[in-house]
Amino acid sequence: MEFFKNITTNTIVLTPNRRLSATLHKRYQQYQLDQGLTTWQTPTILPVTIWIHQLFKEYADKTFSPIPLLLNTSQELLLWEKIILSTKDNEQLLRIAETAELARSAWSLLLQWQVDIEHTLFTSGEDCAALYQWVKAYQAICEKNQWIDTAVLPHYVMEKLTSREIIAPDLIITVGFTEHSPQLKTLFESCVNSGSTLTHLDGFSEESDCKRLNALDNEQEIQAMARWAKSLYAKNPHTMIGCVLPSLDKMRDRVAQIFSEIFATDDTYTVDNQNHFFNISAGKSLSHYPVIHTALQILSIQKKTLALEIFSHLLLTPFIGEAESERIQRAHYDLTLRANNKNIIHLDALLEQDCPLLAKRFQQFLNIIADNNVFLSYTSWANQFCNMLYALGWPGERSLNSEEYQVVESWLNLLSEFETLDQVGPSVNFQQALHHLKKMATHHVFQVQSPAAPIQVLGLLEAAGMPFDYLWVAGLDDIAWPPQPKPNPLIPKRLQRDLHMPHATAERELTFCKIITEQFQQSASIVIFSHAEKREQLELQPSSLIRMLPKIALDSLALANYIPPSARIFEAREKELFIDNQAPSVLAHEKINGGASVIKQQALCPFKSFAEWRLHARAMESPLPGLRATDRGKVIHKSLELIWNALQDQATLIALDKETLNTIIQNCVESALNTIPHSHREFKQYIALEKQRLMQLMLEWLAIEKQRPPFKVVSNEKSIPFTLGSLALNVRIDRIDELQDGTALLIDYKTGKHNDINHWFGDRPEEPQLPLYSLIEPLHATSITFAQVYAGEYGFKGISYDEIDIKGVKPIAMIKKANGLSWNEQLEEWRVTLTQLSHDFYHGIASVDPKDPDDTCTWCALQPLCRINETLEVAT
Ligand code: SF4
Repeated sequence: MEFFKNITTNTIVLTPNRRLSATLHKRYQQYQLDQGLTTWQTPTILPVTIWIHQLFKEYADKTFSPIPLLLNTSQELLLWEKIILSTKDNEQLLRIAETAELARSAWSLLLQWQVDIEHTLFTSGEDCAALYQWVKAYQAICEKNQWIDTAVLPHYVMEKLTSREIIAPDLIITVGFTEHSPQLKTLFESCVNSGSTLTHLDGFSEESDCKRLNALDNEQEIQAMARWAKSLYAKNPHTMIGCVLPSLDKMRDRVAQIFSEIFATDDTYTVDNQNHFFNISAGKSLSHYPVIHTALQILSIQKKTLALEIFSHLLLTPFIGEAESERIQRAHYDLTLRANNKNIIHLDALLEQDCPLLAKRFQQFLNIIADNNVFLSYTSWANQFCNMLYALGWPGERSLNSEEYQVVESWLNLLSEFETLDQVGPSVNFQQALHHLKKMATHHVFQVQSPAAPIQVLGLLEAAGMPFDYLWVAGLDDIAWPPQPKPNPLIPKRLQRDLHMPHATAERELTFCKIITEQFQQSASIVIFSHAEKREQLELQPSSLIRMLPKIALDSLALANYIPPSARIFEAREKELFIDNQAPSVLAHEKINGGASVIKQQALCPFKSFAEWRLHARAMESPLPGLRATDRGKVIHKSLELIWNALQDQATLIALDKETLNTIIQNCVESALNTIPHSHREFKQYIALEKQRLMQLMLEWLAIEKQRPPFKVVSNEKSIPFTLGSLALNVRIDRIDELQDGTALLIDYKTGKHNDINHWFGDRPEEPQLPLYSLIEPLHATSITFAQVYAGEYGFKGISYDEIDIKGVKPIAMIKKANGLSWNEQLEEWRVTLTQLSHDFYHGIASVDPKDPDDTCTWCALQPLCRINETLEVAT
């Protein structure tokens, strides 16, 4: 590069960003090596903002005059927030933090574009007038306290240059700037007035071959870009390749994934971010890194209770104490809490037998939770945060990997910056301190350092002005490039338009984008501009700024081969067909606790029955607010049991007056509700509503029971041991009624509404409970029925040996599915069918054979275990 010749010891090369500075340093090294030198003086090549800070620091170090405090970004934002909050009429403003950021950026723009805040247009609208008020207050506070901020710093440095308290360099070379703000121009003028020579270098004026192409969509565009870069890298690993995406910050993770998959070798599927091929700029918010997310969750614990969602995360995260040594117990505990639908966890009641080490940690932790009424300095709160994290053993016992280590380092730096808020803010309570810390962690964009790489994946502004050998700029469609104008809402629009301030108007955006596009055209010998044809439902055209370039087709490029990992895995499959339908028979000591459900599952799908009752494989439950459907069903069963224990027969029911019946129902429902888990009973209002609903349900159901012929309840929720074939089961019959003729009616309560007696028939009955109960001797059941206790659709659905005068219970002769069998013949058929199912279960028949895949498998969570989808594929 020609301009390297001009660099002397008192030359400053200024760039718009760090990345360009680093690149120029590298190029300078190469330049000196090419000159045959082995040693040379490192030149001063800096981003302009760093140079200004450096001038200030050098001045501060040598002067004896009082130096103002230079505020950091967090301090500035805190100050803006304070001012906005304290300004009259702003009490109702909801998004204070966002407004503070907007005000800070408006203030910075005003200074960069040298706008006078006293301009009459600032009285023209509510928002501009608000900014005027805030700026005046901000200036007054800064002046009173001798503070300056980053926006004012160039003015401060300018003054010192003019008074010769800061010495300007002999030569200033600016490289890669798209434009200089008026403030920067004035600063450079001060340097020139003080004796500097100023040179601007816009780009690198490469002889370049520029083309444009289009891809189907964004995904194809990024993939092609990565494959192109890989192919160039394969030809020459020392080539500098730029891959530029305007919205890289929004899609960084996806871009990283695509590049990582494409650069994977034949025997790997991805490369990690410590690879030596490519480097992706644009970090992510510090709070989005898992180790920091856990830290912020820990700090947010302010009470002795915690929602299961958060507690579950703490049970499973590797970033708290003893997470490795106690991981099995913690995972089990998580499952137990979910199974019990425990939504709220009482941290002080964590049982030592579940996770002793974690329980101990929480005991220590709860002792140091701060009182929110205490006001302390930010430094004291930073200590408190550290103590809280320490008490829970953050960041965990396993060694951190390189990325986690860097993230934790960055967190510690953030805490140091947090402490500097003491210089500008008064004492705060815990919640206020935590709010500031969270905000800082969210705004702090952190990028993990990775080794230098020949392929740079960059955002648009970082790439502008950078020299490459090859460059691909993606995403230049007619909507994104130039983008819509986005003027600052707090600065009068007319002023922004007249002064050509950034993002003020469509013309301004067009001019700016044109300059950048031209810069890109000169940044490498081969430049490709691309755009996607479609985004979501939107048809896209190339941006008018690249439309004139010659178009090339995607397949004319030399792209590295790429087969997506999923396809590679699929291709590499070695199919081994192994039908394993046979499990070992039930062992003598094996206890099967399932009752009639075992037979039901065996009928629905033998594998499901085997997996659930013998392997105990079940889906992990998700806690729900309030009672789950199964819990509600249990409470209804219990209420009915208690009511019939009290009533005993229909005659008593009919004889009772309304008030007494209500009292019985109320007592029974209350007792039933007392059986639900304790944690739910804390929600008193919810339980009161549930009680009201249940009482109404019971009252309406009993009205149905009154309409039947007389009966006596002879058994309620009775457990009966029963052997079917070789299988010993313990069945629980909801209710047995003795009818007028002395026969028994077996009742199965159903609290849903889709109950079908046709599910009792065939060789795979889906609801075999009642048929099974009817086989139990000596119950002598001659009728069986579902009792549908469902608001608005109450009723019986059953069959009997003969007419028994209960609406919904039909004689067997009327049931088509019974195929004309008598009651005793039907019982015999059930005996054979159910015994066969029990026999199959006992002897380990575990075929993946759902009765109706579309129905049976829909709500079954065992698909990854039974691999039904693979089975279906083999079958077809
Ligand atoms: S998903 Fe279907 S085939 Fe698999 S166990 Fe469940 S019911 Fe059986």
